[in-house]
Amino acid sequence: MFDLIIRNANLPDGREGLDIGVSSGKIAAIGKSIVVAAGEEIDATGRLVSPPFCDPHFHMDATLSLGLPRMNVSGTLLEGIALWGELRPLLTKEALVERALRYCDLAVTQGLLYIRSHVDTSDPRLVTAEALLEVKEKVAPYIELQLVAFPQDGYYRAPDGVSSLDRALDMGIGIVGGIPHFERTMEDGARSVEALCRIAADRGLPVDMHCDETDDPMSRHIETLAAQTVRFGLQGRVAGSHLTSMHSMDNYYVSKLIPLMAEAEINVIPNPLINIMLQGRHDSYPKRRGMTRVRELMAAGLNVSFGHDCVMDPWYSMGSGDMLEVGHMAIHVAQMAGIDDKRRIFDAITVNSAKTMGLEGYGLDIGCKADLIVLQAADVTEALRLKPNRLFVIKAGKVVARTAPRVGELFLAGRPASIDTGRDYVPPVLQR
Ligand SMILES: [Zn+2]
Repeated sequence: MFDLIIRNANLPDGREGLDIGVSSGKIAAIGKSIVVAAGEEIDATGRLVSPPFCDPHFHMDATLSLGLPRMNVSGTLLEGIALWGELRPLLTKEALVERALRYCDLAVTQGLLYIRSHVDTSDPRLVTAEALLEVKEKVAPYIELQLVAFPQDGYYRAPDGVSSLDRALDMGIGIVGGIPHFERTMEDGARSVEALCRIAADRGLPVDMHCDETDDPMSRHIETLAAQTVRFGLQGRVAGSHLTSMHSMDNYYVSKLIPLMAEAEINVIPNPLINIMLQGRHDSYPKRRGMTRVRELMAAGLNVSFGHDCVMDPWYSMGSGDMLEVGHMAIHVAQMAGIDDKRRIFDAITVNSAKTMGLEGYGLDIGCKADLIVLQAADVTEALRLKPNRLFVIKAGKVVARTAPRVGELFLAGRPASIDTGRDYVPPVLQR
């Protein structure tokens, strides 16, 4: 007897028509037509069932603050940073907690149950760290929230950058951040990478740096990050977020850099929505895309996962907590439209992100946590194309969110009365 069984599910790897049995919050069986009773039964009717989405790069201290204390008039990264600097002294713990909890509600309905958020440690009050640590506790029953101590104004550049980051780690923030390209000089940037990797090694923590979020091809802190990762024995525990300068780097230099990154087992986290929006702003035409070299990094065996980064905050007025929107943008910006490419992109918002975040028990194997989503789509290609409704979101074997299928009613003579927006009009090659 199972607690829950999901019938007739299609899986991201292409297997179809399987049942998934859940017992004591874990996946207990996967197979065709399982003949076991269950406390609850969900008929997936040939829809995609996936492990939940994971966002490895977000800013939960800034989310939903759009318009506070004013709008970003130019829409640029630098005005965004300046605007956040204006808002920061006005932040209260209560308001931060309230906004973060509201975002987490949205995330759950989108099937997003794992989030890594950077937490700005530049203001020595550390009200951001206090608030997000409280949120982490509060949402733990439904979202696993990882926190990164992030010196937004520079580890060396901000007056209290060094001590504030240390105190945030003492408070219980579990990942070391950084922003080497924003330090005053290239040399300071390189020194910050070394100092922060040393802290991570001493404390036994992972590293996740905003690294080279610029169009400047000479911004090469990723090289230093890879070297220090190997030097301190942090292989596999270090993430390079953004890495947009790699888009503009010389190809010969990159041909040396990517193997160094592979040697250090750097986890690469591009943020397609934000990178395409904020980079290339000093260009006239042609305008660079400003996203790192996703296809080449994947081909070299690096673990690439995509982040959402921002939702309705000083940097980005859009966003919906939907990792399929992130994947959809990635397909376009990275020009990864092949059949295998789509699966790679879907992996980048699910299993690859789980690897970046070091999640345990994530996936669709027997014994994994029964964290599952049922989408109104038949496969990963359709999911990325449609960004469909999450019909069921399941955490530890319990339904935590449900959304009705999107069905359009028609009032046209001689035409059908309604269409399922996912499946009723697709070309024959995609019909099941
Ligand atoms: Zn970021």
